[in-house]
Amino acid sequence: MPRGNLFILSGPAGAGKGTLRKILFREMPGLVFSVSCTTRERRAGETEGLDYYYISRGEFEKMIERDEFLEWAEVHGNCYGTRKKDVERVLDEGRDVLLEIDVQGCRLVKARMPGAIRIFITASSLDELENRLEERGTESRAQLDVRLRNAAMEMRHAREYDHIIVNDALPRASEELIETVKRYKKT
Ligand code: 5GP
Repeated sequence: MPRGNLFILSGPAGAGKGTLRKILFREMPGLVFSVSCTTRERRAGETEGLDYYYISRGEFEKMIERDEFLEWAEVHGNCYGTRKKDVERVLDEGRDVLLEIDVQGCRLVKARMPGAIRIFITASSLDELENRLEERGTESRAQLDVRLRNAAMEMRHAREYDHIIVNDALPRASEELIETVKRYKKT
């Protein structure tokens, strides 16, 4: 059986990655989302096992020692990692999987799995990102500043990706994302 496709979705906070991802999964029920492990606190509205596995730093470090991560990175002061065995199992079953990870993680995965398809979601400008993050209101001012500094860094890496989608209007951007993913479908 041919192995499934591995998609990587990255982009700065506030670009609308989460919203676009949810629309994509509604359209493509066969696609599997890789649930990451994180040491950050659960946000209101998030669900354990669906959005993330929320674990302590100690547990995270043990998983690093046991070499359980396909990749991991520190983002905005917290650790995030993709479990190797989950991704491998899904790909071996011939199903497509999507990782929503940062630019550092994307590089690590691409080095290990050169066939990975990288998609970058961005807003039209940094100002636009700031507005959206403020509207979302899920972060404190200090957390917001960290995310904005990181956003500028992430946007400089957009060129490394196979596809760049500017989320200036949700219906158009979601259509573009769905079309991009569908293009790689094997069946
Ligand atoms: P958030 O805390 O807003 O959910 O995510 C912060 C950042 O961490 C986002 O850029 C997200 O894509 C990234 N991220 C989430 N899971 C992983 C992961 O498993 N590995 C890496 N490298 N980044 C991740």
